[in-house]
Amino acid sequence: MALSRTLMLAVVAAGISLGGALVPAQSEANTFVTIGTGGVTGVYYPTGGAICRLVNRGRAEHGIRCSVESTGGSVYNLTTIKSGGLALAVAQSDAQYHAYHGSEAFADQGANPDLRSIFSLHAEPFTVVARSDAGITEFDQLKGKRVNIGNPGSGQRATIEALMESRGWTVSDFSEALELRAAEQSSALCDDRIDAMVYVVGHPSGAIQEATTTCSSRLVNVMDPGVEQLIKDRSYFRKATIPGGMYRGNDEDVTTFGVAATLVTSARVPDDVVYEIVKAVFENFEAFTRLHPAFENLKKEEMVKDALSAPLHPGAEQYYREVGLL
Ligand code: GLU
Repeated sequence: MALSRTLMLAVVAAGISLGGALVPAQSEANTFVTIGTGGVTGVYYPTGGAICRLVNRGRAEHGIRCSVESTGGSVYNLTTIKSGGLALAVAQSDAQYHAYHGSEAFADQGANPDLRSIFSLHAEPFTVVARSDAGITEFDQLKGKRVNIGNPGSGQRATIEALMESRGWTVSDFSEALELRAAEQSSALCDDRIDAMVYVVGHPSGAIQEATTTCSSRLVNVMDPGVEQLIKDRSYFRKATIPGGMYRGNDEDVTTFGVAATLVTSARVPDDVVYEIVKAVFENFEAFTRLHPAFENLKKEEMVKDALSAPLHPGAEQYYREVGLL
């Protein structure tokens, strides 16, 4: 398996070997864990930061050093968990489902039976933002427009492909389909290089704040009979609302569909490492939910069971049983 030496060292230092057997960390003080996240103006990146902050507070006791990596998003993260290049990552619940089963964006690489859930996090509505001058108030009006469908590797790219497929659309239904990374799309929108951007993201997020404050832009409703059918057909999709008043110039609620963000890992990551990470978040839960406004409504009882398709990691399950959450 071709992995860079640095990645390989990080993996071995975390006590994981790529063959599936566990290599004990040399000493507890040397356990390094990297969480794969997303673009820096999304919510995954600060989510990883919030988790690491709480984990690193207890470093003297458990010896785990947690750090965050900005990445291309869910599909990249899940692929890299499979190859052993990341120990933990944040990923959309629809992408988690497909990675575990080897379907859709993961059909070529096949199922990852070693994928494990840790917990679910905030809701991620499928969010479309259009320039006010583009005349787009609903999803169908994206036809014939310049749309950023997201970089390959991002969660939004996989989700919009599922939505397009359900409507019989291809990229040629747009006048231009761009593949910009999440952190680049708000400036592309305000520079008039695209008419609309698509982001599957928690709210509020830096990217949508940027798009709505730098220029005049509107969140678009993504709800029609086609989307209602998609929600019925796929268990991981649900109705979602982006509350009015959250972003400048967007006072009305917007209705769309969405998924949940989830924290995932591999069965090859040692139980005690996952146990300590979960414990750090759940024992400091008040502090955790204050670290990002998208965490405001999180409930422990829901996080341990909702939106998780892969089995729970044994280290997480052990903690949930100890505290009576399971
Ligand atoms: N849902 C996006 C993805 O999977 C990332 C959103 C975020 O970074 O908050 O690529």
